Parts: sequence; C-alpha cells; structure tokens
Amino acid sequence: MPRDPVAKAFAGSNPAPRNGITSVPRPALSHRQLVIRLAKLPGPPTPDPALEQVPTPPERAAELLLGAWQRDDLEGRTVADLGAGTGVLALGAALLGARSVVGWEVDPVLVAIAREWATRWELPVVFHPAEVRQATGRADTVVMNPPFGAQRQGADREFWDAAFRLQPRRVYGFALAASRSFIARRAVQAKTRILDLHPVPWELPALFPHHRARSRPLKVDLWVLERSESP
Ligand code: SAH
Repeated sequence: MPRDPVAKAFAGSNPAPRNGITSVPRPALSHRQLVIRLAKLPGPPTPDPALEQVPTPPERAAELLLGAWQRDDLEGRTVADLGAGTGVLALGAALLGARSVVGWEVDPVLVAIAREWATRWELPVVFHPAEVRQATGRADTVVMNPPFGAQRQGADREFWDAAFRLQPRRVYGFALAASRSFIARRAVQAKTRILDLHPVPWELPALFPHHRARSRPLKVDLWVLERSESP
C-alpha cells in the first residue's frame, strides 16, 4: 500500500472522453459562453477576510463545471454548492442543466445577491443563509470553493465534512496544494476515492486590506472525489 495519502486515495480513473462519431452531446453553453455569463455576476461588495470571501475566477468556475458536466454530474442532477458566495458555481451548475441546486452561504448579503441573479436568470437554485455545518439533505453532486484555511486554520475542514455528509456521488472542489494530505486522508475516511486532482492556475487579486501586492499566484488544486460505494 503506498504511504502517500494522495497516492493511496487515487483511483486514476478519468473517464474516456465522449468522442463517439455520432451525435456528441454538447453542454448548453460552451466554455467561452459560460465564462462570459459567469463574469456578469458581481463578487462580494466588501469581501470579508475572516470568511475568506475569495470568488472563483469565471475561467476556473467554468473548468470545474464543464468537467462535472462531462462526467454526467450536472445534467438532471441535484447539486449542492457549499459556501456559495454570490452563486457562481451554483448558478453555473443550473445553467448547465442541473435539475435543482441548493447553495449554502453564511453571509446574508451574498445570499441576497445570489438570489437576485437566480431570479433574473430564472434558474432552479435555492440559497440558504446558513453555516455550512448546518447543511442537510442529499445531493448527487457537490461543488465548492471552500475557504482555504488561510485565515482560520481548519475552516476548510467543515466544508469537506459537509460535502461527505450529503452523500454525493461526486465532489468537485478547489483547495490549496498545501492541503493535499489532509484532504486525501479525509477522502479515504469518508470512503471516497480521487478521480482527478490537478493544479489549476489561480491569481489571488488584492481583495483585502492586508493584501499589499496587486495580485499573487496561489498553488490551487481542483479535486474530483467519488464515493467508493456509489453504483
Ligand atoms: N462559491 C463562491 C464563494 C467562494 S469564497 C465562489 O466560488 O466564488 C468562500 C465562501 O464561503 C464565502 O462566500 C464565505 O462567506 C463562505 N463561508 C465561509 N465560511 C463559511 C461557513 N462556515 N459556512 C458557510 N459559508 C461560509
């Protein structure tokens, strides 16, 4: 058995691309169209550093969402977005055909913005102003950009715990590369395996007063986890 927790959890089973000769299914929006759409969403008006309100850049949101669509985890599925912010992942999931989406977000100001856009775009998304540890119910698919734990150590733990509690078939989430061992161990405990894990480009803009540089690159991974006992 490999010692490295990432190696231990890795299933290395990216599905074969859908490349049949006849009628290749296409998402409702191309990558470009999705990026343009998601870029219309406002970020938090006054980002709260304590809550790590760092919005997912539209390109990265589109990457996560189209990856989930490709794996058949969005169309017709129930989706949960943990720490939904102003709704980029939740609304994007609905734009790509999710049957219903539930977003959990502790900041009521952000929930109000997200709800406004769900109404404007007529999407089947409900946002709950609640702590992620209160997230209940089930979801086929979890999508999330949790706090990276830079401000409050362990802030990300509640998100991964909540993600596994909802018993989804698949979890899609961003995390700092420094969190690899921790997440891989939690994944094994929760009887999930890693379907994919790869670094993604991520520029952290100067959002908070303590950010001096205009922007700086962060080492961020995109995770795809699958429940081992799923059908
Ligand atoms: N999903 C959005 C926002 C990511 S930033 C996006 O991808 O752009 C992380 C979000 O988690 C912030 O909006 C923050 O307010 C929220 N958050 C932080 N701690 C939380 C908690 N304990 N419960 C619920 N939401 C939380």
